[in-house]
Amino acid sequence: MPNAAATVVSRLRAIVGDANVLTAPADVEAYVNDWRGRYHGTTRAVVRPATTQQVSEVMTACADASVALVPQGGNTGMCGAATPDASGEEVVLSLARMRAIRGLDAANATITAEAGVTLAAVQEAAAQAGLLFPLSLGSEGSCTIGGNLSTNAGGTAVLRYGNARDLVLGIEVVLADGRIWNGLRALRKDNTGYDLKQLFIGSEGTLGIVTAAVLKLFAAPRTRVTALAAVVDVSHAVALLRAMKQALGDRLVGFELVSGVALQLSRKHHPDLPDPLPGHPWYALLQIDDSASDAKLAALVEGALAEAVGGGVAVDATIAQSHEQAQRLWALRDNISEAQRREGPNIKHDISVPISAIPAFVDDTAAAIADAFAGAQLVVFGHLGDGNLHYNVAAPPGVEAQSFLSRTRQVNRLVHDRVVAAGGSISAEHGIGQLKREELAHYKAPLELELMRRVKAALDPRGLLNPGKVL
Ligand SMILES: Cc1cc2nc3c(=O)[nH]c(=O)nc-3n(C[C@H](O)[C@H](O)[C@H](O)COP(=O)(O)OP(=O)(O)OC[C@H]3O[C@@H](n4cnc5c(N)ncnc54)[C@H](O)[C@@H]3O)c2cc1C
Repeated sequence: MPNAAATVVSRLRAIVGDANVLTAPADVEAYVNDWRGRYHGTTRAVVRPATTQQVSEVMTACADASVALVPQGGNTGMCGAATPDASGEEVVLSLARMRAIRGLDAANATITAEAGVTLAAVQEAAAQAGLLFPLSLGSEGSCTIGGNLSTNAGGTAVLRYGNARDLVLGIEVVLADGRIWNGLRALRKDNTGYDLKQLFIGSEGTLGIVTAAVLKLFAAPRTRVTALAAVVDVSHAVALLRAMKQALGDRLVGFELVSGVALQLSRKHHPDLPDPLPGHPWYALLQIDDSASDAKLAALVEGALAEAVGGGVAVDATIAQSHEQAQRLWALRDNISEAQRREGPNIKHDISVPISAIPAFVDDTAAAIADAFAGAQLVVFGHLGDGNLHYNVAAPPGVEAQSFLSRTRQVNRLVHDRVVAAGGSISAEHGIGQLKREELAHYKAPLELELMRRVKAALDPRGLLNPGKVL
């Protein structure tokens, strides 16, 4: 008599159909390796349900057989959180077939999308209705709403609109025992006790399976200005941010910091991209939007930047003269992660500190890295407007990447000790996954870890949801 775990795959086939349970190595390949190529697992099967009811039945079947599940959306995460372990026992639950937009309420400014809808498809549906869904990431063509919520994704418009967490009004979740919680409320005010949806948002698939969400929409921008400024150092970038906030108010949607090294790396792998202000150590990329048609906005931005240059805050600045030019400036920024992937392995940090602490953090950490790892290459860029930097460290020239990676823990401690000393976070937007689990255990207060474990035990007492991730 075969045991329940051995027969779970045939039960999954009965739920979603043979075509949607993948087991052949070539078929599961794309689901068991992460985007960065850093984590490689194996799986009993990849199951691809198309409805919430099917997700619930899949979860029940796995719970009955005590088989663990790894939820997966677009598999663009940076922390190995959607990659199964090496045991071959876990099932990958892909939400990619749940791609219906269930409704859009223009008067309520909400959209209800299933977990597997790509971020770009939600943006597009909103735009077709004359509205805006403001979450914006370099991976938006592939990442999914379920993944965005489960990682509490950030991106380039957090300064104005907040993280994914701030853009959600309601969610639908399948619990570890297979029950469905329909929390798809479309309300901006609801004080009926604990805000349970926020527990699932950012939980990286460890507390429940997000199957759909009600998301907030905003007035679409009718006027957009994109500008690039060069600055001498990070403290001047912070001063520029402050000056631009003062001049432009909440029309300042994005303020990205890009080091000269990061910009040139992006251009190395995309030589067709422009280099409008060559030769500076740091740049700020700004996006300014207005929902009204405002022909004077470009002049206002130009005036504010001219004042910054005149006052020595910035060295030089340029404003995109067309939509195409603006896209090419953004491509310089958005292609950095991809360029780094092509360049080879590096040690990534996704940190936040109070904006005022960023200049000292950047200077002190660069000096400490130069001391400990002479010649190590820093690729620093990120969302300065949110105090969030991607602080990536690559091997010194001539040092084999894998041997440098073997010193990851030392590099991490050097960077993260400084982050924590500045009152910061060791994961601003990418999450913990398996990559930073040890760091989380090292830096999080014991009481906070205990509370997290109690929440996990309450919602997933048998530890079947994404084991080995986060905690
Ligand atoms: C080029 C590039 C640029 C990026 N830029 C940014 C950025 O600016 N800001 C940012 O925050 N991130 C960024 N990312 C990281 C990544 O795109 C985000 O974390 C994204 O939200 C992940 O979505 P996904 O659908 O790919 O999720 P996956 O990678 O498939 O999964 C991520 C986590 O969510 C869980 N999960 C997925 N779907 C569900 C579900 N339906 N229910 C429960 N759990 C689920 C998984 O188990 C895993 O723990 C970038 C990635 C790339 C490759």
